[in-house]
Amino acid sequence: MRVLVTGGAGFIGSHIVDALLAAGHEAAALDNLSTGDKANLPSDVPLYEVDIRDDAAVAQAFDDFRPEAVSHQAAQMSVSKSMAEPKYDAECNILGLLNVLQNAQRVDANRFVFASSGGVLYGDVETPADESHPADPISPYGISKWVGEQYLKFFARTHGMTCAAMRYANVYGPRQNPHGEAGVVAIFCKRMLAGDGCTINGDGKYIRDYVFGPDVAQSNVLALTGDLPEAFNPFNVGTAIPTDVNQLGHRLHELIDAKVDRDVPAPAHGPHRDGDLRSSLVDYGKIESTLGWRPQVKVDDGLAKTVDWFHDAVGATRAAAQ
Ligand code: NAD
Repeated sequence: MRVLVTGGAGFIGSHIVDALLAAGHEAAALDNLSTGDKANLPSDVPLYEVDIRDDAAVAQAFDDFRPEAVSHQAAQMSVSKSMAEPKYDAECNILGLLNVLQNAQRVDANRFVFASSGGVLYGDVETPADESHPADPISPYGISKWVGEQYLKFFARTHGMTCAAMRYANVYGPRQNPHGEAGVVAIFCKRMLAGDGCTINGDGKYIRDYVFGPDVAQSNVLALTGDLPEAFNPFNVGTAIPTDVNQLGHRLHELIDAKVDRDVPAPAHGPHRDGDLRSSLVDYGKIESTLGWRPQVKVDDGLAKTVDWFHDAVGATRAAAQ
């Protein structure tokens, strides 16, 4: 199958490209490189350096690659930016999505998989939420993911497309951008490896469901190529295993301290950050029974692989600078 991955030069998108190639499919990436990086992609994978808001350039990329399916990962993904600039968020995450959806329909790419979010849809939940849990997004970013799902439903119902909304938990792993406001694993890895201190917000008792990027990529391959029972299929993609930020910080500190030959400051507690959910967990039973997906990588192993990757990446940057 020929798949266009928007946001394909980003963290999750590039793992999806890798997983598609490994399964024998053809892939191309469409990305404006705002947070993504060409280096995340194999050099022989076509990259359309295009903004999803640019009607003409997106149409040209679809005409050139003629995908049979689309994995839509490109997004403005800062919650605080969405609060400060809701119109900008909607331009990227709603109008950009519509631009991609309309082009998919135009070239008969009838399978459409969309990166949604469990955390922003379900809010605070103490037990793993399933897909029937009511959505109540409180930020423009969350609203744009919810509206995006409604548009997928519309295209499924009206234009005969088969769509899946992948409601990710907290995704982490190699290639995650450490410069954003989210992505605590990437941020902590980068800071600890640089010898800088890390701050845990408040008491650190914030429970999250950490799922490894390559596992998430595999869920996308199954949703792109497998039999889907409905025209519109929401799927949670997570582990249902709770880990709080204190445990995470402690484990990363342990791994990095054992890897580098100098003292690594342990994470320290800072002020509580307003708006942070206390607990966010998703139930992955539906995608397991429908597509046979379950997370493969335990959080301890995934964190070790992520630390290795960031350690090598920091080493390569230092070597290039010398
Ligand atoms: P990322 O920043 O690494 O990937 C996003 C990619 O989209 C980047 O390569 C970026 O350059 C590209 N992009 C952004 N705006 C664009 C635009 N206007 N036009 C073209 N390309 C654009 O982040 P990620 O973590 O890989 O996120 C991928 C998707 O998963 C996003 O839709 C995000 O909302 C969603 N998501 C991520 C998580 C998580 O924990 N990382 C959780 C829930 C949902």
